Amino acid sequence: ALTAGIVGLPNVGKSTLFNAITQAGAESANYPFCTIDPNVGIVEVPDTRLQKLTELVNPKKTIPTAFEFTDIAGIVKGASKGEGLGNQFLSHIRQVDAICHVVRCFQDENITHVSGKVDPISDIETINLELILADLESVSKRIQRVEKMAKQKDKEAMAEFEVLAKLRDAFEEEIPARAVSFTEEQQKIVKGLHLLTSKSVLYVANVGEDELLEADNNEYVQLVKDFAEKDEAKVIVVSAKVESEIAELDGEEKEMFLEELGIAESGLDQLIKATYQLLGLATYFTAGVQEVRAWTFRKGIKAPQAAGIIHSDFEKGFIRAETVSYDDLVEAGSEQAAKEKGKVRLEGKEYLVKDGDVMHFRFNV
Ligand code: GDP
Repeated sequence: ALTAGIVGLPNVGKSTLFNAITQAGAESANYPFCTIDPNVGIVEVPDTRLQKLTELVNPKKTIPTAFEFTDIAGIVKGASKGEGLGNQFLSHIRQVDAICHVVRCFQDENITHVSGKVDPISDIETINLELILADLESVSKRIQRVEKMAKQKDKEAMAEFEVLAKLRDAFEEEIPARAVSFTEEQQKIVKGLHLLTSKSVLYVANVGEDELLEADNNEYVQLVKDFAEKDEAKVIVVSAKVESEIAELDGEEKEMFLEELGIAESGLDQLIKATYQLLGLATYFTAGVQEVRAWTFRKGIKAPQAAGIIHSDFEKGFIRAETVSYDDLVEAGSEQAAKEKGKVRLEGKEYLVKDGDVMHFRFNV
């Protein structure tokens, strides 16, 4: 399963945020694919379409889809040189598919800042630099291996060398791999290098609990936004403290609390959705009288693989998928009505599944 790692300097609010995630926590029984690990929190993906489908179909139960966040503690300056839990930290980052970078934007004299003052950009750069240095090291090692063969005009080695040299130059200017442009062929080579700075990133600006409403007036948040724009990254504003309070509430209480605060959607829910996007994930639905359920798939997969997410037999024996888009189904009002309007398609093995598809798989056993 794909997972997003939460990183940030010490004392920026990572654990507080991660606790909110695990408390809001999904029941792992529904999600057997999920890892049981204290550093992994399972989150359900908020999706209003699921409620709407439940109203239409009136099933016995409704199950949202979920994915994982991994808490990656322990980065400090010098991590790439093995300071702190440096190497361990980097190997944990290597295993995640995207990065949520938490940045301290709250003022609190009682909480020590590692570098002595709140300075989000310097914080971001500290971590980014450690990742870049770690990548520079792996690329330099690789260059040593490839350079000789490239000089002997080995085609493959020459192609790789070109990519490596371009990356090395970028890293030396403190530019992450994701900001370097490559041809499609070269991108495949880059992918094979499993670099830390190739992973997509979003920034989580952690503001004080009383600043949530006026986050736009928070100069730190503004700095983070300006920085993120250059990195083509999203910024999600949260108050980790408030989120940990919200996470203790159940559905109705949560809505009332948010209303009192004057916010439409909790920061955590925004973070979950944005991270889902960042991971390249999307949702299809199955809707029967027993169960209405959302399923996560990686954008770009075809119908049989989507069926395989439910059960490997569905993929092996795949015949076709009766498919209707969520919008068409809701507009028609029922599956029957959608059929009569010709909105239910019979899709075969080559069909690229789309976000919002409501699917019914036919398969041989
Ligand atoms: P971590 O080291 O990044 O995991 O940071 P923690 O989550 O342990 O937070 C460090 C300290 O900052 C804790 O005492 C938190 O209660 C506090 N903290 C986290 N978020 C906020 C916030 O939004 N406002 C204030 N005032 N304190 C916060």
